[in-house]
Amino acid sequence: MAQCDLGTARRGIYDSIQPDETMHLCTHGCRYKLTVKHSIGRDEVVEISDLTKDISCIKGVGEKRARLFNKIGIYTVEDMLYYFPRDYEDRSKIKKIIEVLDGEMVCVRGTVFSHMAEQKVRKGLSIYKLILKDDTGTITATWYNQKYLSNTFSVGETYIFYGKISAKYRKKEIINPIFENSDRIGKYTQKIIPIYPLTSSLTQKVIQSIMENCFAFVGSNLKEYLPHAIRKKYNLSEINYALKNIHFPDTHEGFLKARRRLVFEELFFLQLGLLSIRTTSEALEGIKFGPVKELEGFISKLPFQLTEAQTRVISEIEKDLERGKPMSRLIQGDVGSGKTIVAALSMYICVKNGYQAALMVPTEILAEQHFQSFRNLFQNEEMNICILTGSIPKKQKIKLIDDIKEGRVNIIIGTHALIQEEIEFFNLGLVVTDEQHRFGVKQRATLASKGKNPHILVMTATPIPRTLALILYGDLDISIIDQLPPGRKKVNTYVVDESKRERVYSFIKKQVAEGRQVYIVCPLVEESEAFEMQSAVELVRRLKEDVFPNLSVGLMHGKLKPNEKEEIMRRFVEGSINILVSTTVIEVGVNVPNATVMVIENAERFGLSQLHQLRGRIGRGQHQSYCILFNTSNSKVARERMKIMQETNDGFKISEKDLELRGPGEFFGTRQHGLPDLKIANLFSDIHLLKLAQEAAINLIKQDSKFEKEEHKTLKEKLIHLFKEKIDVAIIFKI
Ligand code: ADP
Ligand code: MG
Repeated sequence: MAQCDLGTARRGIYDSIQPDETMHLCTHGCRYKLTVKHSIGRDEVVEISDLTKDISCIKGVGEKRARLFNKIGIYTVEDMLYYFPRDYEDRSKIKKIIEVLDGEMVCVRGTVFSHMAEQKVRKGLSIYKLILKDDTGTITATWYNQKYLSNTFSVGETYIFYGKISAKYRKKEIINPIFENSDRIGKYTQKIIPIYPLTSSLTQKVIQSIMENCFAFVGSNLKEYLPHAIRKKYNLSEINYALKNIHFPDTHEGFLKARRRLVFEELFFLQLGLLSIRTTSEALEGIKFGPVKELEGFISKLPFQLTEAQTRVISEIEKDLERGKPMSRLIQGDVGSGKTIVAALSMYICVKNGYQAALMVPTEILAEQHFQSFRNLFQNEEMNICILTGSIPKKQKIKLIDDIKEGRVNIIIGTHALIQEEIEFFNLGLVVTDEQHRFGVKQRATLASKGKNPHILVMTATPIPRTLALILYGDLDISIIDQLPPGRKKVNTYVVDESKRERVYSFIKKQVAEGRQVYIVCPLVEESEAFEMQSAVELVRRLKEDVFPNLSVGLMHGKLKPNEKEEIMRRFVEGSINILVSTTVIEVGVNVPNATVMVIENAERFGLSQLHQLRGRIGRGQHQSYCILFNTSNSKVARERMKIMQETNDGFKISEKDLELRGPGEFFGTRQHGLPDLKIANLFSDIHLLKLAQEAAINLIKQDSKFEKEEHKTLKEKLIHLFKEKIDVAIIFKI
C-alpha cells in the first residue's frame, strides 16, 4: 500500500498504485498532483523463493494439516495464496429489523430484550429463543439444541447477529445465528467471508484463518509482476491489493477490481505461453515439401468425393507444407466430418516427399482402427505402414523400432508408445495427433522433437467457437471442416427416465432383430455406492441373465488388458456381439457403421461435449440411428443440458453451451493445452477480458519477444516459474 498524507478515507485508490506513479486526485474540493514516493512495509520484498516455501512454514500449519492441504493441491505458500474462494458470503451489511426479508441471510444489530427461553419440544430436541430489539422492531433469535448458549446473553447488551431470516405472519425470526459483540471489529460478521472449495477434512474456518496467516507471512510485499504499462492501460489493480481482495474483500467493488486483475493475468499468461511457442516455432527452419503430382489421381480414386470443406483444408495444409517452415495447424471438425482422410492425405504428401509420417492417438482401439483403414486406403501404394502400441510383444517391438529407425517404414501409427525414449525415427517429416484434447503441448513437442522440426497437424474432436479457438489455440493455425459428408442421417435423440426402461429394452431387441448393433454406455466400472451409478459389470450381468438372454452382450472397459479389449472390439466390428456395454473408452473415434443405438446411463454425469462424442459413434451407416439418454437427475441444469442434446447435433453449438453451463473446468483443463490450469477465469463469461489479454500479449511479444527489457524482468521470472515443467521454457526464454 502506498503512503499518502491525505488520510486513509480513500485507501482503495492508493492501494492500486505503485511507488513512483503520479496521479491526480480531487479531495475536499482541491486538486492535488501526487507522486507516490515510497510505500509502507516494502523493505522486505517477497521473492519467488519465499512463495515456493512449504505450506508448513505458515503459522498454524503443522505436519498433519500440511498433509490435508496437500490433498487439495496446496503444497506451497503460493498455492495457498492462489487458492481462490469459490463463493462469498456477504455479511457486510447490517439491516434494520424492519427491513429484513424472509429467506435472506443477513446481519442485524439487536439488543437483548428477554432472558433466554428454553422449550423442550421432544426428547433430543430443545429450542432456545431470545427476543432482540432495535429502534425499528423486534425479532426472535432461535437456536436448536445449543444448551451452552443459555447463559451467554445478558439483557440490555447489544450484539451483531448473522443468520437466515424467517418472516411469516408478521413474526420475524433469525435462525441459528452466529453473533459477535457489537463494539468489536467483526471477525465473523460485518464483512464479506470467503467460501473455499473443500474436499478433505479442512473446514472453512481453518482455511480462512490459515489464509489470514498466509497474508501475515507475505505482508503486502509481493513483487508486482505485471508491467506497469499494461496495468495502467487495462486498468488492473496491483497484485497485493488483488490477492487481499479476492480472499478478504472489503467491498464488492474491491472484489470486482481484484477479480478483473487476476482473471486478466491468468489469461495473459496463457496467451504469452501459447504465443511464445508459436514465435519460437516460426523462427525455425522447416522441411520444405514439394507438390505431389500423384495426389489428384489418388483423391479421385477414393470411394467418396471429398467435401468442399475437406478440399479447402487440404489445400491449406499443402500451402503450409511447401513453405519451408514447420507447420503447426489444428483441424477442427465435428464428429464424423471426415478429419481422418485429411490427415491421411497429408501423410501421403509427406511420404511421397520421402519422409516418414507419424499418427498418434489416445487409445489402442483407435490406433488399431486407423491402422486397418490406412492399410486399406494405401493398399495399392508402395508404403510400409506399422502400428506401435504398448501391447506389442517385445520381440516384434524390437524389430519395429529398428525398422522405424532405419526408415523401412513410412507411416507409423501408435499411442503414447510413440513418444518413448527408445523410439527414434529415420526422417520424421509430419506428426499428426488425433483427438488432441488428450495430449498436452508437451507430449506433442516430445514427438516432434524426434525429427528435425517436423510439420505438426493436430485434430480435435471437441470443436469450439472460432473466436475462442483463435485465442485458446494461439500456438496453432486453425482450419475448420464445417461440413458433413452428404447423406448423413440426423441421429434421433430421446431423453428418458427410469419409467421408460422396459420400452427402451424392447426397442433394443427390435433393432437387434433387424440386424443392427447397440452401445450401452455407463460412467463407472465398479459399483460405487457414493454415486449410485450403474456399474457396467453389474449391468452386463443383469442384461445377460434377465433382459437379453438370447443375445450376445459384450463388456468393454478401461481396466481390461489391451488384447482383451481388442478381442471384444473385433467381435463387435464383425457383428458377433449384439450389444456392447462400455465405459467411455469407446468415446473416441471408434467406427462401427452397423451400430444404430446408443444408450447412455446416467447421462447427466457426462459433459455435453462428451455426450456428443458418444453420440457420434452412431449414425455412421445408412440406417436411421437413435440416441437414448437416461437422465436420473431432477435438477434444472441437468434438464436444460439434456434438452440441448435433444435439440441440436451441432458440435460447435454444444460445446458453447457446455462452456456456458459447466464453466471451463475439465473442459479446458491442463489436458487441453498442457499449460497452467485456469483457476479463476471463465472462458464463457470472461471472453471480453480474454480478448484484451490476448491483445496485450500480442503487443508485448511484438515489442520484446524474449522478455529482455528491464520492465519485463519480474514478468519473465514469473513466467519461467509458472511454465517450468509445462513447456520447454529453455527454448522460449533462451535461458
Ligand atoms: P471424424 O472427423 O469424426 O474423425 P472420420 O474421419 O472418422 O470422422 O470420418 C467418418 C466417416 O466418414 C468415415 O467412415 C469416413 O470414411 C467417411 N467419410 C469421410 N469423408 C467423407 C466424404 N467426403 N464423403 C463420404 N464419406 C466420408
Ligand atoms: Mg476421428
